Amino acid sequence: MNTVYRWQDAPSSEFAVIGHPISHSLSPKMHMAAFAARGMSSSYVAIEVHPGEVAEALDHLATLGYFGVNVTVPHKEDAYAWCHEHSEVAVKLRVCNTLDLRRRFGTNTDGEGFARSLDGFTFENRRALVLGAGGSARSILDSLQSNHWHISLWNRTQSRADALVSEFGFEAEILSLPDIIGHSLIVNTTSASLDGQRLPIRWADAMPSALAYDLAYGKGLTTFLVDASEQGLAVLDGRRMLMEQGAAAFEFWWNVPAPRAEMLAALQ
Ligand code: NDP
Repeated sequence: MNTVYRWQDAPSSEFAVIGHPISHSLSPKMHMAAFAARGMSSSYVAIEVHPGEVAEALDHLATLGYFGVNVTVPHKEDAYAWCHEHSEVAVKLRVCNTLDLRRRFGTNTDGEGFARSLDGFTFENRRALVLGAGGSARSILDSLQSNHWHISLWNRTQSRADALVSEFGFEAEILSLPDIIGHSLIVNTTSASLDGQRLPIRWADAMPSALAYDLAYGKGLTTFLVDASEQGLAVLDGRRMLMEQGAAAFEFWWNVPAPRAEMLAALQ
């Protein structure tokens, strides 16, 4: 657990992650490991910001001299609204997870982090099934589409999947059931695993070479990944994506290569 500051009591620092709740965030540990590996003396803290207070909190942190801020649930849209300038991907998705407060510039490294987390895997085909249509699915769909995957999308509440696809113009086939047949990548962006709940998936239908990927992570495998690994599938949890989106944020702030191995080690 992090030491958590209220934004009104933010200490002297250059970097922070804001969110609500934020005590569980691994970002401070990961970025402090990166700074140490690069011999940097900067610090990175966790700051609790309640809904409705994002603009005021970011103004305050900018006044205190904070330079780089990561933004997590549920503030990514408010962070986008606070910025005066945005990267291309942030404009497309209208959410920011990485800010430069001096320039009031926002970007989004989630999609890049997701794409890079797949480096080193080979896939029998380019067919991906995305489960879930919440905030993280937006970046995942964009990343998969940019990398020329054929996308199937299932969400418990189908109307949310319909809305996501039409609002952002994604090319995805919406499924009424999470049918995994023929997909070499199955990505769980739902928060079901966090509650130990199971999705209605028939794992026996999976391609033997498929990768089951859960954006969630915890101690040991999530329920989604336990079920997939029992079918003999390769599995990946959300730590590699967390590291890669953090590495992209580090490189955005510092313009030097991020120490990926040290950052990943800090998450294990
Ligand atoms: P949201 O709250 O925006 O969306 C939640 C999604 O989960 C919705 O599609 C919701 O469906 C679905 N869902 C929740 N419970 C269940 C259930 N019991 N059965 C089926 N579907 C369910 O969350 P986010 O998209 O922001 O985050 C989702 C997950 O991704 C979290 O576990 C989060 O920790 C993780 N994440 C990891 C990152 C990383 O770097 N590794 C980055 C970002 C997120 P419905 O619409 O029907 O309610």
